[in-house]
Amino acid sequence: MLSTALLKGPEKWELLGLLARLAMLKPRSLASVSVQTWIDQHARHERVHQLLLASARTLTYSGNLELISMEPFLTQLQLSLKRPVRYIDGGWQTLVTGLRRTAEQAGVHLHPGTRVEAVLQNDGRVRGIELSDGRFYEARAVVLATEPADVTRLVDDPLLKQRLTRLTPVVVACLDVALQSLPRPDRPVSLDLDQPRFYSAQSLFAHVAPAGGAVLHAVRYLDPTAPGDAREHERELEALLDLAQPGWRALAVKRFFLPHMQVTGATPTAGSKGLAGRPEPRVEHIGGLYLAGDWVGQEGYLADASFASAHQAARLLLTDLTGQQQAATGRSGPELAA
Ligand SMILES: Cc1cc2nc3c(=O)[nH]c(=O)nc-3n(C[C@H](O)[C@H](O)[C@H](O)COP(=O)(O)OP(=O)(O)OC[C@H]3O[C@@H](n4cnc5c(N)ncnc54)[C@H](O)[C@@H]3O)c2cc1C
Repeated sequence: MLSTALLKGPEKWELLGLLARLAMLKPRSLASVSVQTWIDQHARHERVHQLLLASARTLTYSGNLELISMEPFLTQLQLSLKRPVRYIDGGWQTLVTGLRRTAEQAGVHLHPGTRVEAVLQNDGRVRGIELSDGRFYEARAVVLATEPADVTRLVDDPLLKQRLTRLTPVVVACLDVALQSLPRPDRPVSLDLDQPRFYSAQSLFAHVAPAGGAVLHAVRYLDPTAPGDAREHERELEALLDLAQPGWRALAVKRFFLPHMQVTGATPTAGSKGLAGRPEPRVEHIGGLYLAGDWVGQEGYLADASFASAHQAARLLLTDLTGQQQAATGRSGPELAA
């Protein structure tokens, strides 16, 4: 930052001061303040204002900074100041493969490609799940780890539906491109200060392309309350790549444009006290029903929230089932808690 020509001396000092302050603040203390409000109130220089807004978009993936709370921005910023962002060799598939292997080693039976059709209930308690091929599994407890919209389809419950349809997702448009070679390896990342766009040459940070090849990822942060025109977003992302990697079009071997990708199922909004406004992992009014996902619970943002809520759901489920077993048998039983 000290060597950049983008900022003048006083702007650098202001940015350093604000980052030092943001690093010390407790994320929860600003849960009810929007990112836009905080930055408007604290950044005096226009360039610093723009840089902070662009950083907030990149860290939260949100295209509506009036809506999103400071809490997830601070959470992500403080994480990235402690440990730089890591790109994973092989991309997300490496995580999925690792999770699958660990689950199977722990004795989990996976049924890939099988859709759950409905969660069946009886007298305010779950009694099992029905699969799309007609099979039925009896269960005293069910953890749903889908997006909120899937939960409302799977569980026939007006109160749950009312609560979950109030959530506002964070959404982006993505342009992913595979190239024969990278025109400008000296331009690994572009943070757009004027428009809600970001680009990175991911293959410079991790093994995600064959030797000599390259993978570019460009993202446009969308406002979920006014999603806009997908074709226009694609053109904006192409234009960003034209600037960052001139000549990329002639080198492209594959491209995917994903106009509406959900990043997380719920924006932690300033109006709903940040992460505290997300649904809890235990659905109190339906016995045996638990939720996990990046839109559940008060801990973490994005995939961190998925893992944290899954852990909480599992602990609550074991506690509840153990309690029921003890009540039924009249004695303490460690079987379910093991
Ligand atoms: C472009 C982009 C970049 C991102 N970058 C990051 C990042 O750098 N770091 C980070 O932490 N997060 C990142 N995220 C967010 C991250 O991808 C999500 O937070 C994470 O994938 C959520 O995982 P999940 O398992 O909770 O939910 P999901 O990944 O949404 O999984 C839900 C699963 O439920 C399945 N399902 C739905 N309905 C049914 C049904 N009826 N029966 C059976 N299965 C069903 C779906 O098929 C899906 O596989 C990014 C997201 C995007 C879009």
